[in-house]
Amino acid sequence: MDASRRQFLERAALAAALGLSGPPSLSSGEARAQTRAAGPPQVADLHLVNGRFHTMDSGTRVVSQVWIRNGRFAGVGNNVSTQGNPRRVDLRGRTVIPGIVDAHNHIVLVGNRPGWSTPLEHVFTIQDCVAALKARANGVPAGEMVTCIGPLAAMQFPENRLPNLTELDAVPRPVYLQAAQGGNRTNSEGKKWLEARGVMVAADGTVAGQGAGMALLTLRKELLTAETRKRSAADALQYYSTLGITTHRDSGAFQADAPAPGIASENTYTMHEPFLALMREGRLAARLRLDFLHQDPPNANPPLPTLSDRLKNSFPFFGNDWIRTGGIGEFTGGGLDGLRAIARAGWRGEDHSLSLQNATQLIAARETVNKEIPIGNLRWIISHIPAFTPELADRANALGVGVLVGWGPTRTGTNVGPPYRMLMGHPIKKAFHSDGGDITVINPWLNFSTMVTGKNLQGQAILGDQVLTRQETLWLATAATKWFIWEDDLGSIEVGNHADLAVLDRDYFKVPEDEIKRVRSMMTVVGGKVVHDEL
Ligand SMILES: [Zn+2]
Repeated sequence: MDASRRQFLERAALAAALGLSGPPSLSSGEARAQTRAAGPPQVADLHLVNGRFHTMDSGTRVVSQVWIRNGRFAGVGNNVSTQGNPRRVDLRGRTVIPGIVDAHNHIVLVGNRPGWSTPLEHVFTIQDCVAALKARANGVPAGEMVTCIGPLAAMQFPENRLPNLTELDAVPRPVYLQAAQGGNRTNSEGKKWLEARGVMVAADGTVAGQGAGMALLTLRKELLTAETRKRSAADALQYYSTLGITTHRDSGAFQADAPAPGIASENTYTMHEPFLALMREGRLAARLRLDFLHQDPPNANPPLPTLSDRLKNSFPFFGNDWIRTGGIGEFTGGGLDGLRAIARAGWRGEDHSLSLQNATQLIAARETVNKEIPIGNLRWIISHIPAFTPELADRANALGVGVLVGWGPTRTGTNVGPPYRMLMGHPIKKAFHSDGGDITVINPWLNFSTMVTGKNLQGQAILGDQVLTRQETLWLATAATKWFIWEDDLGSIEVGNHADLAVLDRDYFKVPEDEIKRVRSMMTVVGGKVVHDEL
C-alpha cells in the first residue's frame, strides 16, 4: 500500500471512530504540501460570514464575519470587504471562538501510544464508547490492537467504570484500554494476545496490579515503530481538532531510554520525532509548543547532569509557527541550583504544585533565586495550584510568575481547587491548562464544564464557590494564554493574528450547563488551513 493510500485509510478509520459522516478530505493546500519536502502548507483564503465570532479581543467584541488571507485574519467585523477571491462559507449563525490553546498538557505522550490509538474523551455512555471502538476497528487490519492509553476516564460513564471484557467483545479486534483514571480493560482477543506474551488478565478483562505496567510495556515493545508513532501523533492532533484545540503546549514526560511500563514515561530525546516528521510533511492539525522536563537530583555529581547539557545545547523559543520550543518544565529538577542555572541561561522554568505547602516552597525558592539572578522578565510558571492563597498570588505576581489552572473534571472531593474566583479577581497572570494525557483528560469542554458548573464528570460539586462565568472560562483558554505561550498573535480573533478558530456545533454561551461537556467543533482552522470540517 502506498503512503498516501495508507494515510487516507487511517484518516477514514479515525473519522469513523469519531462518528463523522465521511473522512475529512485533503484540502488542495494539504495535497500540495504533501508533495513538498518542507515548508508551510499553502492555504486558500477564506471569507467566513453569518457567524457569531466571539473575538476575545480586549473589547470582547462579537462580530459576524472574518476574512482570512495568507493564514492570518485580514478583516474582522460585521461588514468586511475582501480582496482576491476567497472561498466564502456561510456559517448560518453558528458560534465561533478563537482556537483553544491548552497551555500545558501531555499531547506528545498521547502521540506516542502503541497500537491504533483511539482517544475516547467525547463519549458519555459505555454503549457509545464501544460504538466508537467498533467504528475505529473498521479501519484496522484484522488482529491488530485498538488502544486507548490515557485519553479516557471511567468517570465519563454513569457507572464510573470502563467497559468490561464482555462489552468490549463487541469490537472485532483486540482492545486495550488504560484510562487516565479508572484502571484498564481488555477484551477476549486482547486477553489472548497479552497472555501469549506472559501478561495475565483477570476474567473481567482487568490487568491487575503490576500487570498494567507489564501490559503497556509489552504493547510498547511489540507495536511501536516510527510509522505507528507518526500515526498516533497525527490521530491525536486530528482528534483534538474536533474539540477545537489549535495549540498544545506540551509539558514533557518522564525520561525512559527504552520502552517503559509507566504511562507518563517516554524517551524525551526522541519522542518529538513523529511530530517533527508530520510538520515536514505539512500534516500537523495543530500547533505545538514544546517544553523540556528535567529531574536531575539536587547535589548530583557532576551537577545537573541533564539540565546543564540541555541549557548549553538547545534553543528556547526556537522553531516556526507550527512547532516551537519553549522552556524547562513541568519539572526543573536540581533544586535551587537547577533554578539558578535556568535563570542564568535566561530560560523559562515551570514546576507544578500539588498542595499549599508545595506551592509555598516553590515560591520561596523562586524568591531566593530572584535575589541573585532576576527572573522577572522570564515568565516563569507554576501549574496546577489546587490550593493557593491571595498572599501567595501576591508573592508570585511580584516575582513575575504566572499560574496555570485547570485539571478539574476527574478530581473528587470538596473545594479541591484551584481557587478560580480568587484568581480572577487578582492581577496575577493566569491561564487554562488541562494537564491531560496521562493523569487526566485533555478535552477542553470537560474542563470548561467543571469550571462553569463546579462539578466533576460524575456530577459531584468539587469547587465550592470558586466557579467562573462562561466568558471568563473561555478567556482563560484563549486570550489569557498569550502570555504563557509568549506569542501575542494567538488566542484572539483580531486583524494580524494567526487565523486559528473553531466553529462550534452549538452555542457554548447559551446551552444548558449540562451540555457544555458535549460541545464539539464543526470546523477547525489553524493558520487559515481547514484541519477539520463537518460543516
Ligand atoms: Zn503536566
